[in-house]
Amino acid sequence: MPQSKTQPVRVRFAPSPTGKLHIGGARTAIYNWAFARANNGVFILRIDDTDPTRSTDENTQVILRAMRWMGLNWDEGPEVGGDYGPYWQTERLSLYREAALRLVAQDKSYFCFCTAEKLEADRKAAQQRHDPFQGYQRTCRSLDKAAAQARVDAGEPYTIRIKVPEDRGDLIVHDAVHGDVRFNAKELDDFILFRSDGTPTYNFATVVDDAAMHITHVIRGDDHLSNTPRQIIVYEALGAPVPTFAHISMILGADGKKLSKRHGATSVEQYRDAGYDPEAFINYLALLGWALDGETTIIPRDVLAAKFSLDHVSKNPATFDQAKLDWINASYLAEKTDEAYAREVLVPQLRAAGLEEAGGDPVGSASNDGTSPADAIDDDDAAALLHSTAWYELLAAILKPRVKLAPEVVDKARFLYESTDLLYDQKSVDKNLAKPGTLAFVQGALDGLRQLDDAQWTAQHIDEKLAQVLEALETNKRKFYAAVRVAVCGNQVSPPLGESIELLGRELTLARLAQARQYAQE
Ligand code: GLU
Repeated sequence: MPQSKTQPVRVRFAPSPTGKLHIGGARTAIYNWAFARANNGVFILRIDDTDPTRSTDENTQVILRAMRWMGLNWDEGPEVGGDYGPYWQTERLSLYREAALRLVAQDKSYFCFCTAEKLEADRKAAQQRHDPFQGYQRTCRSLDKAAAQARVDAGEPYTIRIKVPEDRGDLIVHDAVHGDVRFNAKELDDFILFRSDGTPTYNFATVVDDAAMHITHVIRGDDHLSNTPRQIIVYEALGAPVPTFAHISMILGADGKKLSKRHGATSVEQYRDAGYDPEAFINYLALLGWALDGETTIIPRDVLAAKFSLDHVSKNPATFDQAKLDWINASYLAEKTDEAYAREVLVPQLRAAGLEEAGGDPVGSASNDGTSPADAIDDDDAAALLHSTAWYELLAAILKPRVKLAPEVVDKARFLYESTDLLYDQKSVDKNLAKPGTLAFVQGALDGLRQLDDAQWTAQHIDEKLAQVLEALETNKRKFYAAVRVAVCGNQVSPPLGESIELLGRELTLARLAQARQYAQE
């Protein structure tokens, strides 16, 4: 029974918490999320944790964190609840058992008592007689029902197997990505729904849940396409509508092999920790197998959420392209407002690097603008920030065009956080400061800037003052600025000088110029 078109869209992302969330899983999550949003549907997160040996709570937490970092908010699932819970398969075990027993009662499945040895012997025999069908030989399918029940009641171990209908013709998966894919029902054996240890098989649990949760579209990796005919048999046995399937292609590394750890970072967390912007990250992953129009590369979240459609998903494998991800990431960083850049990029990075450590000496012009340390940036933890909102926004403005990956801000801003122990870069000193004539530059800048009071300590006034000093010295412009830059910032590659000096603050700037006289020469 196909899904009716009028039903509200309900999709799920159902990771097994047997490891971290990887690129491939993240893309599946993004497609489900975007499909739900584009169709005013419901996005469900379900934790498929029925493999007790490999599933851990820690992995579940890592997956939830990765989902939140990507901004893939789910409407039903862990932590948010919903009408069709629980959303952990281990909390649904009794449902699978009930469903399997119901199918036995309806003669759509049956108890099987075959031992592992018997199954193995049957398989070998089928091999020897070159039987094209080497699956389960249906030994227990014809057992008398009452007798089978008696054996179960007596405590004999059993599994529950589906009864694939004799007359079931070919199975056709109407896949939204691959088109119609045909499977020969004769090749399907009566597979196990419920194991002797009381756990359901993947193909059974998934369908019981997808049916109970009224999933309308199953969007997942195409490694599951071969499971789909079995799942359709289960839907039919349960009398539940078969959802639309969309199996999305593999992701390959640059060498054409399936993306794996050999190719470098593969978990979402690794990208978060490397400083990728989550908006850029989901934009890039969305493009691995889906296109808006074949041309547009920058597709913000809201566009993705409005425009995503399965008919633009490619069935060909996608190739992971690090350079393209980096390019998209840089574009997103450059597009941020100073306020967003300060809050989302600068402050977290400076914190992670320990530069914002509480208890450190506030340096620079923390209160130049008369406000207290950045409460607007960080409501929860304002006290831990050393500077004002305006300070971070000015720093954001000057670093933004100079940074491709968020962590690069740390080295570029470090000079602002060093007080008396500013580390002078020896090469920069040798090249620009330890040269004949530079003492006059440094002294001139010191005397000039000293004339500006705290209220005048802005990039504009600073630039004007330095220009006056330069004019009075009648010297080489490039050499003058290079010497002053190294004297104040310790390095010849700092951001624009006026802004750098403003951020550094009056006290520290004057102290550094005074200190730098020891490197300068007459
Ligand atoms: N837990 C399964 C997996 O992670 C879900 C597959 C599916 O979406 O049906 O592969």
